[in-house]
Amino acid sequence: STKPSLRVLNPPAETAEGKLAYSSELQAELDAASQQLESSSPEEILRWAVEHYAPKFTMATAFGPEGMVLIHMLAEIAPETPIFNLDTGYQFKETLELREEIKRRYGIEVELKKPELTVEQFEQANGGPVYRTDPDRCCFERKIKVLQQSALGMYAWSSAIRRDQSPDRAKAPIVGWDKKFGLVKISPLANWTKKLVWNFITQHNVPYNPLHDSGYTSIGCWPCTRAVGIGEDERAGRWSGLAKTECGLHTQ
Ligand code: SF4
Repeated sequence: STKPSLRVLNPPAETAEGKLAYSSELQAELDAASQQLESSSPEEILRWAVEHYAPKFTMATAFGPEGMVLIHMLAEIAPETPIFNLDTGYQFKETLELREEIKRRYGIEVELKKPELTVEQFEQANGGPVYRTDPDRCCFERKIKVLQQSALGMYAWSSAIRRDQSPDRAKAPIVGWDKKFGLVKISPLANWTKKLVWNFITQHNVPYNPLHDSGYTSIGCWPCTRAVGIGEDERAGRWSGLAKTECGLHTQ
């Protein structure tokens, strides 16, 4: 190939807790790598991530179509990559069934990471469903805290976000520093469109959530997800009727 070889980073420096030590040098390295990876395929980006950060490279998935594409790619590139799901206790049964499908198809076991309290305990302690009274806190307790816990001992994580999903996501770098979790965040599909994702799924017969065939474009917890109508934004069915548009995993 005539492509220049991808950037190799300096050996990472660690903090006392075994996390990557953030510095302006690290940021400059990540910026340069990100820029170089702009023209790379998602597979090349994943390979770069594995080369630099495995075994401290992990992926979080909500079993969305983009995540399924990345899982399919990782099954070829580095099937040993630890992949986990934030199991809030409010997921659709169709979503959780995909975990079994992934095991059958790829031999990959997606780990379910659960909050300390069960849904019943959580609701009892708060006098009812927190997703109704304070969804930001609900997401914080059921997702963010669990991801913070899962990030311990890791250097980097892959997300499946695309820039064209929403204005909030339009500036996501391919490789960046995620200060909320103290990890390098890699978004191999940042430059992909919804069409490319679904073409890939069809071409490779990648399993996907059957709810997508019933008008659910973006699927999260059942209390905060509805099907969207024709012409609506693809994330319009999330936290519908509230000002909230993100659970906080992808905002700083
Ligand atoms: Fe709670 Fe809804 Fe957030 Fe799920 S998406 S954690 S139910 S507020």
